[in-house]
Amino acid sequence: MLPIKGLEKMSLIDFPPYQSCVVFVGGCNFRCPYCQNKDLVIGFEEKPDMDEEEFFKFLMDRKKWLDAVAITGGEPTLYPELAGFIEKIQARGFKVKLDTNGSNPELLKKLVDNSLVDYVAMDIKAPLEKYELAADSNVDKDKIQQSVELLLSGNVDYEFRTTVVPDFFAEDDAHAIGKWLKNCKRYVLQQFRNDMGTLNPAYMSARKYPKDDLFFFQKILKQYINDVQIRGI
Ligand code: SF4
Repeated sequence: MLPIKGLEKMSLIDFPPYQSCVVFVGGCNFRCPYCQNKDLVIGFEEKPDMDEEEFFKFLMDRKKWLDAVAITGGEPTLYPELAGFIEKIQARGFKVKLDTNGSNPELLKKLVDNSLVDYVAMDIKAPLEKYELAADSNVDKDKIQQSVELLLSGNVDYEFRTTVVPDFFAEDDAHAIGKWLKNCKRYVLQQFRNDMGTLNPAYMSARKYPKDDLFFFQKILKQYINDVQIRGI
């Protein structure tokens, strides 16, 4: 069973233009020090799972108001059960958005090939050569690249997105990521937030880039990608 550790009952911002609920799945294979969902990464096993039947009852009770389910984590693709869970959501008439760190291209491909996702938001932690530093983990970079290529092939709507943390992102990284993801459909720069805690407590007091720096990075990235957005400012 998918370890559902939390549910946001209504969101207008996670999968626009749809009204969605957000399912939080526990467990992650990365340890990004600036992670805002630390309780889904470490110690999540101690929190009880939400009963799947209870979730689907909630979903059907809200059918009038909800169009979609956004699945986030943690890292939802750690679990092969994800495909079956999504099938049950779709069978009830809801769209599905998936957030992923891109570390499981095999499962991602299965979901895309079987039309089990309507939108994928894939994290880009840093240029590939800096990935292990930014994710503070051993990362199979071939798998990240496979996920990138899968999304670039355009069989599902998607975005790539980077949480912009000064330790891992500077002007040269904006160029490197722009060249890497050149002509992708959509790329989002997300302002780093640390008001709800971070996986590595040192990042709770880490500096953020001011807005103007984010606009500067956006301008650089627009040399390579048409649609570059900024979130969280
Ligand atoms: S930010 Fe990093 S550690 Fe946190 S859930 Fe995403 S991939 Fe996992």
